[in-house]
Amino acid sequence: MSEKTPIDTRHLRPATRLVHGGTMRSQFGETSEALFLTQGYVYGSMEEAESRFKGETPGFLYSRFSNPTVAMFERRMAELEGAEAARATASGMAAVTASVMGQVKAGDHIVAAKALFGSCRYVVEDLMPRFGVACTLVDGTDLAQWKAAMRPNTKVLFLESPTNPQLEIIDIAAVADIAHAGGASLTVDNVFATPLLQSPLELGADCVVYSATKHVDGQGRCLGGIILASEQFIQEKIHNLLRQTGPALSPFNAWVLLKSLETLPVRVNHQMQSAVRLADHLAGKTGVARVLYPTRTDHPQYELAKKQMRGGGTVLSFELAGGKPAAFRFANALQIVKISNNLGDAKSIITHPATTTHQRLPLEARLEMGIPEGLLRFSVGLEDVEDLIDDVNRGLTAL
Ligand SMILES: *Cc1c(COP(=O)(O)O)cnc(C)c1O
Repeated sequence: MSEKTPIDTRHLRPATRLVHGGTMRSQFGETSEALFLTQGYVYGSMEEAESRFKGETPGFLYSRFSNPTVAMFERRMAELEGAEAARATASGMAAVTASVMGQVKAGDHIVAAKALFGSCRYVVEDLMPRFGVACTLVDGTDLAQWKAAMRPNTKVLFLESPTNPQLEIIDIAAVADIAHAGGASLTVDNVFATPLLQSPLELGADCVVYSATKHVDGQGRCLGGIILASEQFIQEKIHNLLRQTGPALSPFNAWVLLKSLETLPVRVNHQMQSAVRLADHLAGKTGVARVLYPTRTDHPQYELAKKQMRGGGTVLSFELAGGKPAAFRFANALQIVKISNNLGDAKSIITHPATTTHQRLPLEARLEMGIPEGLLRFSVGLEDVEDLIDDVNRGLTAL
């Protein structure tokens, strides 16, 4: 490679980091980042192979460990997040699972917020206890519950904020303090906020994870995930686990995600502006019981959202007074907004959590989590907002 060491973009603003961060160029000097669709690498001599394997000379060994295209994606994400190090994974869940597993051993204890993405909840609540790691679930918005759940063997606190689909805000700085006071660390799943709108590491978290499947790709093409933390954290807890267990991101997907990062701020800002418009449009309409959006003044944690986020995000939720029949009538009447369960996508997507993403939970647990039958989650896309407003009006008319 002719630019073996990428230029550091950390002194530049986020949009610039997202265009240039991490770029390495081959001997051809290509403008666009190259896709290295290769499983392995050849060495000029036996001596070179020996010294690479010993770690004495830098270079790639095997794409389960690292790959130039994957490395560019990791580096660009790290520069955006302001993290020292990053490791990409095949999906968001691979990132969550590795980040949790890498921090615990049998006999340890995890405290997690109840309002988690379903598969994240499976990892902490069902999977980890099978390996002797206990887990306590708390109401993430109640700091007293986090404190009360701490034990001498607590190693990891885990949360998402804003939560899915209630868009509750958890005080990341306060939970980080509770973690550190108890000798534990805090991992934040920052998918809903995106790296542009919330910086958990600056707020005191030790590790941040993303499903790159969501806003980072943002065009519904591939799965991906990433773990970001200090160099020491990655080396001690994540590096070997990923290398030896193999949830590696495909170089092809890394290339798609790397190119997507160039447009992340353009997409997220546009989608967010439309989300604000749509939240305001829906609020107070007949049949709409409440609208949930973090930076609306009627959000229960508006002040906290303002304090720790730079914007409310691209997703809003709203509850229809008529319960499930109303939610179904509304969503079935939409022509532009698609019924699906991705989020952060260029295409606007509506989801009925009670019958899809959260259907496995019993009714009582759903209600306790703030997921009534009339709740819809709306991931706002890149369409013209006026067309989206027309579409929402079709839904309202159908009520
Ligand atoms: C989608 C999602 C995940 C899982 O990501 P995958 O890429 O689907 O594996 C984890 N956490 C949150 C908050 C998500 O939205």
